[in-house]
Amino acid sequence: MRELILEEPGKLFVHTPRSESRPLQAGELRVSTLYGGICGSDLKVYEGHLAHAVYPVRPGHEVLAVVTEAGDGTSFVPGDRIVIIPNTFCNECDRCKRGQTNICRNKQSLGINVPGGFADEWVVAAKYAVPVPEAIPDRVAVLVEPFAVAVHAMRKVHICEGEEVLVSGCGTEGALCAMVARARGAQVTVTDIQPSRLTWIRSFLPDVHTITPDQVEDDAFSVVVEAAGARASVEAAFAAVSSGGSIIGVGMAEEAAIPMQRFVRKEATLYGSIIYVYDDFVAALAWLNRDRELASKLEACIGAEVSLDAFEAAYAHALSGKPGKALLRF
Ligand SMILES: [Zn+2]
Ligand SMILES: [Zn+2]
Repeated sequence: MRELILEEPGKLFVHTPRSESRPLQAGELRVSTLYGGICGSDLKVYEGHLAHAVYPVRPGHEVLAVVTEAGDGTSFVPGDRIVIIPNTFCNECDRCKRGQTNICRNKQSLGINVPGGFADEWVVAAKYAVPVPEAIPDRVAVLVEPFAVAVHAMRKVHICEGEEVLVSGCGTEGALCAMVARARGAQVTVTDIQPSRLTWIRSFLPDVHTITPDQVEDDAFSVVVEAAGARASVEAAFAAVSSGGSIIGVGMAEEAAIPMQRFVRKEATLYGSIIYVYDDFVAALAWLNRDRELASKLEACIGAEVSLDAFEAAYAHALSGKPGKALLRF
């Protein structure tokens, strides 16, 4: 049994616990991670830039695992492949009762303030496990968590065939929003300050239009997805959106100025979108199961894959800012 431990910011190592594994309680699963993905929030925890992170912590919230033992009262059996919903929800607070489990008042986040999934063996409540259809390959399934973020965000708006969608910021999340919008039939334009990211997205989404930020036309897009998390990108979204259109905030800019007159006169709508609910995972998996072309595009987002023992290379890839998701293989 190996696990990754982040003792304190910058101090990450593979640890082999000595203690015996504890018996399962009802409703729990013992699981073995197959693949893990590293994303921006992992890097923030690694660098000590996330206020609600605790240390030491076992990282890992993008996880594909296999069930090795199922506690009483679960619908899983050993051998089932699952993806994990890595943000807890209580099902009892007012927000959960409204179905908004993604903003549960008692939310905790795996790999940030509770132990994550980068381990050969660990225990998780079955309510956070979503079964993976057999036909979805491991390297696609591990990307369902970030994909579900895009599925959830794009559900804020109704996308019609031929709709003009702008995605501003072409990191993994921006690329996945572009993929979802394109798969729904939209005409998708992507912009980023880094030309290498635009080259990267064209390698697997050849039919998206890529432009530099200064080429973005005013009033041209009925949906603008802000995925750069940068002030300039947020402010530009209010110019780019067309009258009656929508801006979806996915990125995490600290703050930005809203040109209120423009916003009001356009009668635009601004949405915030954070993570996902259970149904977004189910919908994402069902979609990837029936659309193999989409699944192979998702797999093409992988930029690096290394074994757990070489975790430093995966973190180095992610920290380098190079496009493409870094994966750990267990
Ligand atoms: Zn993530
Ligand atoms: Zn709740």
